[in-house]
Amino acid sequence: MLHPRVLKSRAIILNMRPFGEQDKIIDAWTEKSGRISGLAKSAQKSRKRFGGRLDYFSLVELHYQERPHSILYFIQSCDLLQSFENIKCDVSQSAMASYLCELILRMMQEKQPDEGLFFFFVQTLEGMNNTGQESMMKVLNFKLYFMKSLGLQLLLNRCCQCKSVWEIYGEYPLSFRQGGLLCPACRKKNLVDEVLSLALYEYIEGKRSFLSDDDQHKLHRILNSYLEYQYGFAFRSFQYLNYFSK
Ligand SMILES: [Zn+2]
Repeated sequence: MLHPRVLKSRAIILNMRPFGEQDKIIDAWTEKSGRISGLAKSAQKSRKRFGGRLDYFSLVELHYQERPHSILYFIQSCDLLQSFENIKCDVSQSAMASYLCELILRMMQEKQPDEGLFFFFVQTLEGMNNTGQESMMKVLNFKLYFMKSLGLQLLLNRCCQCKSVWEIYGEYPLSFRQGGLLCPACRKKNLVDEVLSLALYEYIEGKRSFLSDDDQHKLHRILNSYLEYQYGFAFRSFQYLNYFSK
């Protein structure tokens, strides 16, 4: 039998959990193979092979290998490229990074690489780590781009039910089930989940590049509710993020 080849890719560590006495299961988002899970042998005990390099949202170069008859890869080794120490030292920033990792972990299909999205994620973490400012805006920008790449963007340029275009005055009623805005006629027949303000509407549509702190939190909450509605589960890290980013 041919020996499975060793793959090499830049990767962000999304999650880790102990497996047995000595090993760990690692969830990582790799640039080349998409989201993967892998077994890191002796990662709990031996610091020789992995040291402190396997850590939440660190950027690493990962060496991994397919295992016959298993969906888990075998994680051979990793080299640390960027540990994002400033994010890790700040409770609010690390709550935001954990939230993004959870979105990727739970919403992205396994083994579906998207190099553009991966690049944008690394850029978002770098921006948060380097300046420590406007991190919530960076998280929102990434979240909107991420939703778009998964085909989950809100339809705001016409009614999402009857597809008509109408003159809007200040209020933008959203239906989660329909995935966008409702015109006055369709509004009477559907449940309105949230109402967007002009500022939020313009921001999502790319007609405005910045939001007040209050609006950032509002949009963050609305988008999160929309994703929870779509997926039918709650994102665990959202409460944590909400608590620490006030
Ligand atoms: Zn309509």
